Amino acid sequence: RRAKRDGLGIAVFNPQDRASVHDRLLLRGELRAALAQGQFLLHLQPKIFLNDGALPSGAPMGFEALARWQHPERGLIPPGRFIPVIEVSDLIHPFTLWVVDQAVACCSRLQAVRPGVGIAVNVSTRNLLDDHFPSQVQEALLRHGLAPALLELEVTESAIMADPARALATLHALHALGVRLSIDDFGTGYSSFAYLNRLPVDALKIDQSFVAGMAADQDMRAIVHSIIEMSHTLGLMVIAEGIETRETLDQLRDMGCDVGQGYLIGHPDSEASAAAWLRSR
Ligand code: C2E
Ligand code: MG
Ligand code: MG
Ligand code: MG
Repeated sequence: RRAKRDGLGIAVFNPQDRASVHDRLLLRGELRAALAQGQFLLHLQPKIFLNDGALPSGAPMGFEALARWQHPERGLIPPGRFIPVIEVSDLIHPFTLWVVDQAVACCSRLQAVRPGVGIAVNVSTRNLLDDHFPSQVQEALLRHGLAPALLELEVTESAIMADPARALATLHALHALGVRLSIDDFGTGYSSFAYLNRLPVDALKIDQSFVAGMAADQDMRAIVHSIIEMSHTLGLMVIAEGIETRETLDQLRDMGCDVGQGYLIGHPDSEASAAAWLRSR
């Protein structure tokens, strides 16, 4: 066990491994300490409007806040290595509140660079099952003086399906605040348009696996095209994530996709980089 801790370490969760209960408990303890010690940070990834007439650059729509763990010895650890452990414990409550608070504060500061720019935060299953979550989000908005419509909360279909009745109550309470709601990773879950129509959501994010597959696969393009058309029929805005090539961006724009996000537009980076990116547009 010692040898294992000395390398990349048990402190980093690998979904491929069947980590022992003991290792998981150790990691959870480290994550709790990391939150208390301020070792997490947010990177911001830009999103642009694809069909606002501002060709070819696209006007900034906002940013997605993505968590990283700045580990004192292991450097910057991506969320895929620690979110899966946080989100199955009660640590997800203080963690998400920290992310919301930081993201809202950051977006509030960015209004000075570009008024109206928004921020999106990823929300986990357990947050949707927590009655207190909506009022805590409202407190963060009031604390930093941000208009609710500039905050977007991203939820997955599977998070909603874990307990649809309770999740729906939370989503309605959040929506009543004026916060925007979007379905993340759309296409990888249940993906029922009939059900989607009954949710108080404003936007749908097409999963990056579909977007990545578009260039080489005609069927994938057809699927993406119909997702966009059906979303518009339901009055939903469509965001495509994982755009890496100009060709894909042009195809999405031609299909009427509203917003784009991906390495072609910008990588997740610091708030200073986000501000510089806004100034350059
Ligand atoms: P997500 O919400 O679907 O975020 C998009 C992920 O795709 C991010 O990975 C982003 O860096 C990556 N990405 C963006 N553009 C491209 C591209 O053009 N190509 C490729 N290959 N990837 C791209 P990241 O930052 O590693 O985050 C992974 C996941 O971790 C997120 O997926 C989200 O589910 C979760 N996550 C991140 N931050 C938080 C958080 O604060 N709270 C919760 N609950 N989950 C988070
Ligand atoms: Mg997301
Ligand atoms: Mg996603
Ligand atoms: Mg994801």
